[in-house]
Amino acid sequence: MEKKSFFAPLKSLRVRIFIIVLLSGVLPGVFMRYGIMNSYETRAIENRTNVVSAQLRVVANHLINNNYLVGYRAKSDSYLKTDKIIDAELEMLANLYDGRVMIIDSNFKVVKDTYDLSQGKIMISEEVIKCFRGDNISNYDADHGYIEMTTPIADSTLTSVDGEAEVQGVMLTSISTESIAATMEILQRNALVLEAIIIVIIIAFAIVLSGLLVRPFNKITDEVLKVKAGFSDEIISVPDYAETVHIVDAFNQVLSRNRTLDESRQEFVANVSHELKTPMASIKVLADSLTTQQDVPVEIYREFMEDITQEIDRENRIITDLLALVKMDKNVETLNFVDIDINELTELILKRLRPIARKKDVELIFESHRSVTASVDEVKMSLIMTNLVENAIKYNKEHGLVKVVLDADHQYFTFEVQDSGIGIPEDSLAHIYERFYRVDKSHSREIGGTGLGLAITKRAVILHQGSITVSSKEGEGSVFTVKIPLIHVSN
Ligand code: ADP
Repeated sequence: MEKKSFFAPLKSLRVRIFIIVLLSGVLPGVFMRYGIMNSYETRAIENRTNVVSAQLRVVANHLINNNYLVGYRAKSDSYLKTDKIIDAELEMLANLYDGRVMIIDSNFKVVKDTYDLSQGKIMISEEVIKCFRGDNISNYDADHGYIEMTTPIADSTLTSVDGEAEVQGVMLTSISTESIAATMEILQRNALVLEAIIIVIIIAFAIVLSGLLVRPFNKITDEVLKVKAGFSDEIISVPDYAETVHIVDAFNQVLSRNRTLDESRQEFVANVSHELKTPMASIKVLADSLTTQQDVPVEIYREFMEDITQEIDRENRIITDLLALVKMDKNVETLNFVDIDINELTELILKRLRPIARKKDVELIFESHRSVTASVDEVKMSLIMTNLVENAIKYNKEHGLVKVVLDADHQYFTFEVQDSGIGIPEDSLAHIYERFYRVDKSHSREIGGTGLGLAITKRAVILHQGSITVSSKEGEGSVFTVKIPLIHVSN
C-alpha cells in the first residue's frame, strides 16, 4: 500500500481553506496583542519616570535651598530640623514608589540612603559621574523590574565657567515597576481569554466556510460517480462557480463524445450485420428453392450454384473490406513509410484494372506531369489508388473515360481521378465517405460495391497526413483529388 505522506491532508482544498481562514483570523489578533502590550509598557514606564523625576526635582530644590549637602556641623538647629523634614520627604517618596533614594555629594560620598545600607560609603558609578557632568540618566531594567534614574542637585544661583548651574550632588533613585508588571499581567490574561474565545469562533467559522466552499466540488464528484455507476447518463450541471462550470462543461463534452461514439459503434454493428445477412439470405433462398423442388434439371442447378457462388464472393468482399477498415483504425505506427516511385505504382495499379475497364468499355488514360517519388506506405497507397480508379470505372457510362493525372510541387503530390460517369448528387457528397453509404444501393450492389471503399480510402489518406476532395456533377462525371505530402513527418 502507498505510504501516506505527513503533508497528504494539505492536498485537500477544504483543509487549505480552513488553514487560510484560521491564520488570517488568528495571526492579526496575536500581533495586535503583542503590539498593544509593548506600547502600553513603554507608555507606563515613561509616565512613571516623568512623574517621579518631577517629584525628585522638587526634592532636589529643597535640598539646595536648605543647604542639605553642606556639612552637618556647620548647620544651625533650624537647618537640622528642615533636614529631618527633607529626610522624611525622601523616605515617603521611596515608600510611595517602593524604591530607594540615595543622595551623593560632590566627593561621591553617600550622605543619605533610604535603605540605610550605603550611608557614608563612596559611590562612584558611571551614571553618577555622568550626572555630575549634567546628563540625566534613566534606565529601565525589565528583567529585575525597576527603573534607575539620576537627578542633579544643582544651585541655579551658582553657575560654572560655562554658564551652567553647578552640580553639588546627585540623587540616585531606583523605583520598582512591579505595579506596572501586575497591570500588564492582568491585561495579558484578559487578552489571552479574549483571544481563546476568538480562536474558537474562528475555528467554527473556518470549518463551516471551508465546507460550504468545497461543497460544489463534492457535488461534481457525486454526479460523476452517478454517471460512472450507470444510474444516469444525463449531462450534469453544477453552476455554483465559474470553475465548476468549466469542469462540468469539459466532462459533459467527454460524455456526449462517448455517447456519439457508442451510438456510431452500435450503428456500425447493425449495418455490418445487415450487410452480411443480405448475401446469406440470398444463398438460403437459392438453396431452399433447389432442395424443395424435385427433379430439378442440371442447367437450373448450375445457374443457381453460380448465383450462390456470386453471393459468397460478395460476402467475402464485405469481410475483406471490413478487415481493411479495422486495420486502418489502428494508429499510424503500423504503417511502413518508404520512398516509392509513384509513377511506377500508378502504372501498376492501372495495368491491374485495365481488364475491368475493357469489360465495361471504359478508356483508361494516365497523364503524368512529372516523375514523383514520395515516402508512403505502399499497401495503403495502392488501396487509395485502386478504390478511386475502380469507382471511376464502376460508376461510368458505356464508352466512358477515366483520366488519372499525377502532379507534384515541392511539398505535395496530387493524384487526380477524373471520370465521365454518372456523377454524385450534391446532397450525397457529404456522405460518400461514411461506412456503408451508397447513393444507389441496388445499383452499387449490382456492380459489387460494399459501401466501404471510400471510407477505407479516406482513412488511408488521413494516415498519410493528406487530404481528399471531390467535385461532381450528376450525369457529367466526378473528379476525386488526393493530396499527400512527399515526405512523411511523424508527430
Ligand atoms: P461502393 O463499394 O458502393 O463503391 P464506396 O465507398 O467506394 O462504396 O462509394 C460510396 C458511394 O459513392 C458509391 O456507392 C457511389 O454511389 C458513390 N461513388 C463513389 N465514387 C463514385 C464515382 N466516381 N462516380 C459516381 N459515384 C461514385
